[in-house]
Amino acid sequence: MKCNIEYIGKSRQGITKYYCTAHKSFAYDKLGNKLDECLWSNKEIYDTRLNIKQNEIKDINIKYENILESVIPKITINNNEYSGVLEYNDSILTYKDFGGIMLAKLNNIPLEIVKCSHCGRYHSDNGQFAYTPHRTHLCLYCGHLFRAKERNIGSELAMIYTIPEIKLKDKLLKIDNYCCVEYDMLKGNLLINNQNVNKVLFEGKELNIVEFLNNLLANEF
Ligand SMILES: [Zn+2]
Ligand SMILES: [Zn+2]
Ligand SMILES: [Zn+2]
Repeated sequence: MKCNIEYIGKSRQGITKYYCTAHKSFAYDKLGNKLDECLWSNKEIYDTRLNIKQNEIKDINIKYENILESVIPKITINNNEYSGVLEYNDSILTYKDFGGIMLAKLNNIPLEIVKCSHCGRYHSDNGQFAYTPHRTHLCLYCGHLFRAKERNIGSELAMIYTIPEIKLKDKLLKIDNYCCVEYDMLKGNLLINNQNVNKVLFEGKELNIVEFLNNLLANEF
């Protein structure tokens, strides 16, 4: 799928901003020049689409093979590996949205229905925005900022599925240079190197699993 790049206005510093509505990503450089292609790195995932209104989804698993090396997870849907996006009405959902759900649930954040006042599409928060309630949201469909009535966090997946809390055991796990994170979204299970733990010992520091994953995925929005 080709980029569809549109001018979306100027930043406070007066830099012209461009946005790709095909890949939910910015498309301008530091000086405000329009790029030929947007900044989304793996555009091919948008070529495969699964309509979740027409297909029953029994499980969605995301697996970060080694989250210390790559924050792009493998997706398994109904026991089949899947490398596309999910579609539902006007929503197009990617692995970043799945990661956002994991973070919001780990942080015990209530997920709300948030709608862009500019384009009317619903909103999902990912990366640091999935655990930091905010009033000004960046719509990933049209690239415009919009204001909610109160600070909140949006999720389109939580509008469709009941997503359970993640229950963690009070246990510490030492992590060296390999950290596999598996999240079963519709069951609410989270495993770190195949174990259910709430703390890790990493680089000599004991970290709560929530802050550990918050930090690793902060920029995945
Ligand atoms: Zn693009
Ligand atoms: Zn919008
Ligand atoms: Zn937001």
